Amino acid sequence: MAILPAQVPAFIGGPVPSGGQAVAAESPIAEPTEIRLKDLRASDAPVQIVARIVSIERREYTRPADGRRRPFLTGLLSDGTASVRFTWWEPPNEEIDRGTIIRAVHAQVREYQGRPEVSFGFRTRVTPAGPADLPKVDSEGFPFRTISELRGRSEGFRLEARVLRVGPKTVTVGAEQRLVYEGLLGDGSGLIAFSSWSDFHLAPGEALRVAGAYVRTFRGRPQLVLDETSLVARIDTRRLPPADQLLTHAPTPLAKLAAAGGSESTVVEGLVVALLPPSGLVYRCPTCRRPVSMGLCPQHGAVKTIADLRARLVLDDGTGTVTMNTDRPTTESLWGVTLDEALDRLRRSPDPSLLESSLAEAVVGMRLRGGGRVFPDDFGLNLYPESVEPIEVDADARARELRARWEATDGVA
Ligand SMILES: [Zn+2]
Repeated sequence: MAILPAQVPAFIGGPVPSGGQAVAAESPIAEPTEIRLKDLRASDAPVQIVARIVSIERREYTRPADGRRRPFLTGLLSDGTASVRFTWWEPPNEEIDRGTIIRAVHAQVREYQGRPEVSFGFRTRVTPAGPADLPKVDSEGFPFRTISELRGRSEGFRLEARVLRVGPKTVTVGAEQRLVYEGLLGDGSGLIAFSSWSDFHLAPGEALRVAGAYVRTFRGRPQLVLDETSLVARIDTRRLPPADQLLTHAPTPLAKLAAAGGSESTVVEGLVVALLPPSGLVYRCPTCRRPVSMGLCPQHGAVKTIADLRARLVLDDGTGTVTMNTDRPTTESLWGVTLDEALDRLRRSPDPSLLESSLAEAVVGMRLRGGGRVFPDDFGLNLYPESVEPIEVDADARARELRARWEATDGVA
């Protein structure tokens, strides 16, 4: 059994760890020198780091000593020079949010599958830190990468890309409301979504050199994250293809999209071959917009629901399928029935499945083109389109095509 050194009971607002060991009176321990995440090496010597929490998750394990279920936190830290996984044993009870910057003194470094990881134990003192505490980075030190070369945990690279879209969004970090700037970058090799914790005053069309950003996986796709430590410089706008050329306008084959793991912005086209439940009339929580059954939102409890229309359409283009999720206005226009009319029909014959089959009858067989972000999940590709248009099928042209095929087959036989 290891002899436990003096405790430093100062987690962020956390409980003083129990364990029954006597806390030995000891002269103050020398603080380990602060080091950058890129310089971490597995060692017995504790370290001091400052980093931002990129992702965080609360889990439980069974403590071998007493068989009790105990919580721990795990996730990813980044300081702009590198990102590392962390594990926080006996964490504070309060929620620690993604985006929080922390200083950890007396953290342990281990190696897992060739990469360093840090762990915070009862000796580790974790306190909040600020953006000014994060290391300053220098863009020339980073190797150049194209967007298509970026993967789920890429970091320590330099990138040149054009801003295609950008806009502010309010997020809640702890008790604080923070603005995060979200958008889309393109460089000719591909497109990547980004989110920035810092306002770099980005505008669509600008060409940028970015260094000290990192990549995380968000809803099945890589996303570039910029923060106060990232370096963003405007470069000559002619160094990159024009915005119009960076965005796809022609439909991409679904097999190609499946192989690429989706796309940040693309166009797909296909025949509606099925309507998946839940489609038609749905009821949502007024606060979080989640579909609600029996008037109970999983997050907000009993709520006064609002009626909405949606459709989950399976599009097939001959190479693959995508599930296209349409909102109320699009569903209304494809169906030719408004929400009010659907509610009225339900009052007259209270069977929601009649509405669903009426919607299916209207949309199955339509040829649609949809544009937006395509991302994979366990069931295949998904699209929440920003635009949907029915493609007119020229009946005469189709008949001529069928006849030509039939004659060609006939000629061979
Ligand atoms: Zn809710």
